[in-house]
Amino acid sequence: MSKIHYKSVEEIALIRESSLLVSKTLGEIAKVIGPGVKTIDLNKLAETYIRDNGGIPAFLNYHGFPYSLCISLNDQVVHGFPGNRELVDGDLVSVDCGAELNGFIGDSAYTFAIGEVSEQVKKLMRVTMECLDLGVQKAVVGNRIGDISYAVQEHAEKNGFGVVRELVGHGVGIKLHEKPEVPNYGKRGSGVKLEEGMVIAIEPMINGGKAGVKFWDDGWTVSTVDAKPSAHYEHTVAVGKGKPDILSTFLFVDKVLHEKVNI
Ligand code: MG
Ligand code: MG
Repeated sequence: MSKIHYKSVEEIALIRESSLLVSKTLGEIAKVIGPGVKTIDLNKLAETYIRDNGGIPAFLNYHGFPYSLCISLNDQVVHGFPGNRELVDGDLVSVDCGAELNGFIGDSAYTFAIGEVSEQVKKLMRVTMECLDLGVQKAVVGNRIGDISYAVQEHAEKNGFGVVRELVGHGVGIKLHEKPEVPNYGKRGSGVKLEEGMVIAIEPMINGGKAGVKFWDDGWTVSTVDAKPSAHYEHTVAVGKGKPDILSTFLFVDKVLHEKVNI
């Protein structure tokens, strides 16, 4: 069994660079995503942008995954395939991106609303984002993984949403998926102790209805059992003393979405 890889200050600086590339890639996606856009074209854009900036798409060929992005529509939770489906008004689109730069990996995901979505979907997006923020705030020295897990679960469930059990966050940086697992459900004060040098991907996957998921025959796509929508946000975070050090950022996405609203 592999052990937790504790990163040096220098390694964390490099993971920050890879995470920045991922964050900028999501910002590029934000610029073009909208009705009429094919998700395969978003995949192409991301792959080109990552390579043009000296990186390698971390998902491409990972255990045979055939794309640079995971794009999961509506009731798809994660690991969806980009394709020829054109986005339409009302779609909910989770875009998950990983990039390797100088041998280090960053991982981040953002869920976009296409045009107008329902009030319930807006609430799902807001609560899932809040779950991420609450989880991230627990990524400090002295806490345990269960403190992150509990914060996410408690907030999602109190809002009536389902917390996916089958898929979890993870250590990240040298490899895409490292120890420890970072579940979105659990008990306060339980699990691995958080220490300096740990870099983890915190990624709430929150369902609008039941927590249950099904796995598709394509070997990758995961969707909700009740066909209700699902949202997913993710940051790469270095455990910090007193406060978390968030290595990825939604600033690039936020800037674009804000500009779109004000056109
Ligand atoms: Mg991810
Ligand atoms: Mg991840």
